[in-house]
Amino acid sequence: MSFTPHGKHLIAGAWVGGGATFKSEPASGPAFDFSAGTVDLVDQACRAAEDAFWTYAYTSRASRAAFLNAIADEIEARAEAITEIGTSETGLPVARLQGERGRTTGQLRLFASHIEAGTYLDKRHDTAQPERQPAPRPEIVMVQQPIGPVAVFGASNFPLAFSVAGGDTAAALAAGCPVVVKGHSAHPGTSEIVAEAIRAAVERCNMPKGVFSLIQGGTRDVGQAVVQHPLIKAVGFTGSLAGGRALFNLCAARPEPIPFFGELGSVNPMFVLPAAAAARGESLGQGWAGSLTMGAGQFCTNPGIAVVVDGPEADGFVAATQEALNKVAPQTMLTDGIAQAFHDGQSQMATRNAVRAVVNTPLTGRSAAPALFETTGEAFMADAGLGHEVFGPLGLVVRVGSIDEMVALAKGFEGQLTATLHMDAGDMPAAKALRPVLERKAGRLLVNGFPTGVEVVDSMVHGGPYPASTNFGATSVGTLSIRRFLRPVAYQNMPTELLPQDLAD
Ligand code: NAP
Repeated sequence: MSFTPHGKHLIAGAWVGGGATFKSEPASGPAFDFSAGTVDLVDQACRAAEDAFWTYAYTSRASRAAFLNAIADEIEARAEAITEIGTSETGLPVARLQGERGRTTGQLRLFASHIEAGTYLDKRHDTAQPERQPAPRPEIVMVQQPIGPVAVFGASNFPLAFSVAGGDTAAALAAGCPVVVKGHSAHPGTSEIVAEAIRAAVERCNMPKGVFSLIQGGTRDVGQAVVQHPLIKAVGFTGSLAGGRALFNLCAARPEPIPFFGELGSVNPMFVLPAAAAARGESLGQGWAGSLTMGAGQFCTNPGIAVVVDGPEADGFVAATQEALNKVAPQTMLTDGIAQAFHDGQSQMATRNAVRAVVNTPLTGRSAAPALFETTGEAFMADAGLGHEVFGPLGLVVRVGSIDEMVALAKGFEGQLTATLHMDAGDMPAAKALRPVLERKAGRLLVNGFPTGVEVVDSMVHGGPYPASTNFGATSVGTLSIRRFLRPVAYQNMPTELLPQDLAD
């Protein structure tokens, strides 16, 4: 292997090792030793981030944009080594890692141009009205200001785009917030090489060293200490409902509660409407199978549930999905733990009331084969467990008796990242009945597409009501995600020379 991790943490520009270690568990290739994170290292990183804030938050938008672009360049300079260690650690294919790297550098560059444009500052100005009766009105101006040091948890399922230099880090750095990353133990070597890219960019751009730190995991103490550290002012997280909820509760229980932007999972229901099912049930089934098994189903936007009106069209849709899934070979999952959770979810699904297995090949170890089950609307509404995410390539078809039952079922869904309508012109009345329900449930509504591709653009929303996210006013993808790490400050009667630079301009 051309890149051999040294296994250290990056604390404010210095690589620090020693103490207890943990071993990486790659899907293939050699395992390496990594220094385990400690509460003391968390403290050092957070203090350095706070020190850096006093400089970094007051850098010009142009210099922060140059810094983000430099991080992208440094990542590209390490492209092949990143792909090599990334595929070894995660088992994801080379093309996926290459694509994810492009998305990661694209996000960094998008944020660079976004802050240069400056519209995100949402500047507002109310002029003074000294003559107003009964009381004069003062001049008030408002601008968005960086919130302070931000903690970011690397995600297991996106070793690049949602990890060390992923969307949360890019948004926070763009906003003017130093970042402390808690690396995911599923890919510590990938975290290390990307952190080295950021370290090099810090040096090149002469940024304060505390602007970025990476603490490898190895123990739960690290994650808990970082969200509870008094100098951390917000947290970005992608992961499980249980882990995210535990960390969210810690944030809320702090003497000074802070926002926890957790993205905790979703079943992303699809509603296959009757005219669409009749006209193209077969291609919809094939498309669903492709989306469901992409990346071994380890996407937060994986469409795990398809709701369809029972009848011959539903039979055709299910048969096409079954045929397509039967052709998909077993895939390697990200970690042993994630594979075990999938196997457990698959076997529990097979034993639930009124659930029929359509495709079901239980495997062991780190492999997963696609699975498809079906049930009725009545059974689904009687068993809340059927609506819970099974992270991996598992689909559930819910056959309902009518559009009214479909709408009733939609009303019962928990918060989702996405909801999809597959429809033709004849389905418009049903779609009109569903849209108001679905927009209360999900952050993104799609028509005639599959939700697994998430465009990184200005209008993207990757979030939704709980449990899709812990803060449904926010998105973790797209330029709007910068708002998570900003807070509005109003300045009343303040002389121009005292105003923040962005307002004085
Ligand atoms: P996870 O268990 O929630 O872990 C995510 C991160 O949070 C890790 O850094 C983990 O540290 C930390 N963490 C979790 N619980 C914690 C606690 N109680 N205290 C302190 N730190 C804590 O998620 P995962 O490892 O990525 O995968 C496990 C499951 O999460 C999957 O099977 C899947 O169900 C779900 N998942 C969902 C999505 C999604 O997008 N919806 C994405 C990924 C995973 P450690 O490294 O020390 O464990």
